[in-house]
Amino acid sequence: MSTMPPEYPGSNPFSNSPTYLMACQQLRNVARAIDLDPGIAERLMLPKRSQVVSVPVRMEDGRTEVFVGYRVQHSLTSGPSKGGLRYAKNVDLGEVAALAMWMSWKCGIMNLPFGGAKGGIAVDPAELKGGEKERLTRRFTDEIQNIIGPRIDVMAPDMGTDEQTMAWIYDTYSMKVGYACPEIVTGKPVELGGCIGRKEATGRGVTYCILQALEELGIRPETATAVVQGFGNVGSVTCEELVKLGVKIIAIGDRYGSIRNDRGINIAKLLEYQSQNERKTVAGFPEAEAIADSELLTIPCTILVPAAMERVITEANAGQLRCRILAEGANGPTTPEADAILANSDIFIIPDILCNAGGVTVSYFEWVQDLAQFMWDEEQVKAQLKKLMLGAYHRVRNEAKRRNISNRLAALSLGVQKVAREKQKRGLYP
Ligand code: NAD
Repeated sequence: MSTMPPEYPGSNPFSNSPTYLMACQQLRNVARAIDLDPGIAERLMLPKRSQVVSVPVRMEDGRTEVFVGYRVQHSLTSGPSKGGLRYAKNVDLGEVAALAMWMSWKCGIMNLPFGGAKGGIAVDPAELKGGEKERLTRRFTDEIQNIIGPRIDVMAPDMGTDEQTMAWIYDTYSMKVGYACPEIVTGKPVELGGCIGRKEATGRGVTYCILQALEELGIRPETATAVVQGFGNVGSVTCEELVKLGVKIIAIGDRYGSIRNDRGINIAKLLEYQSQNERKTVAGFPEAEAIADSELLTIPCTILVPAAMERVITEANAGQLRCRILAEGANGPTTPEADAILANSDIFIIPDILCNAGGVTVSYFEWVQDLAQFMWDEEQVKAQLKKLMLGAYHRVRNEAKRRNISNRLAALSLGVQKVAREKQKRGLYP
């Protein structure tokens, strides 16, 4: 049995974040379950390297505002670290550290040659005007220049950032090093060496997993309904892909409000509506009724997809979930306390580190293509993504069945074990 102290880690720069403590609690549970070497467990609990930077930005009205930016590299054991960059008002060091840790397990499950990383800037991107987002992104890139690189740490989009953000990072980094270096980021525009299908990859991967789960449960997609929280990159693509399978999307929510239509929401029309309103929201869509945000997750449905933020399924609402499948598009949407409640239900959970791994998988394809300066076509990307996602899905399910454990514990075990094995084999320097 692992002898890691039960309360480890004690106080550290990350530990005032409930999200970081949640990631540590998961790691502790896994360490116990797989009898992980305590020295390795302790090393995995703390990120390898973290940088906090101040990012001064000239605002459109002439003022200077200073934002706080973070980049956390959880592990560099398996290759460069890899992970998204998040722009969100309340992002902090601990949240970023948790997300970086989850990226390590995710890359482990998918057998990708990366460690986990994550970045963030505490800013509400919806409040930025004119050229502020570009100046913020470029200055942040400059401030963390010393710890990123195609063989060190490679960023990608996450909440609040997109292809354009990655293009600015690519350009800023390239200007610094003196040559075009597309392999510094993934999730770039295709014209700049981005991978066809990267934008859709996470939602597609979520859908491949859902389809497998439906098959296991003997449910035909055309008879299924879905509720989706978040209508950004992950949520909207998941909706589009589910609709192609015949699934009816009956409710959707975003940060501005939630909508419901039991006859099925027309996703193409909703996307058009969203693109045309100023806040880019689903709220106010005329072909659905407005509902309270607190209702969204507990609507009876076949498939519930949280695709917005972490810690939304808690002990307060877990007992009220009325879905058959919980497909975690977001990172960390379910707290360990909620997990314990769900364990006593018949809800089939597709855990985040498996469910949303399509994004980092196609990011890996993009990185490889940029390094080789050779582009794949869309069919190749889709076929490879599907192959790797299904492989991972079945590895997790087989592990869960073999050890009679939850899908989450199985997924975490596989992810943690892969990183731990590599750490063990490389040994401890010096
Ligand atoms: P995004 O910025 O494109 O969209 C986020 C969506 O969540 C928006 O619709 C926003 O309105 C909504 N949202 C924000 N706060 C909310 C709240 N309080 N209540 C309800 N909705 C809220 O972000 P994204 O890239 O789609 O990422 C969503 C989640 O998926 C995040 O947890 C992210 O870490 C995870 N993820 C993203 C990728 C990717 O490739 N983009 C890959 C893996 C995991």
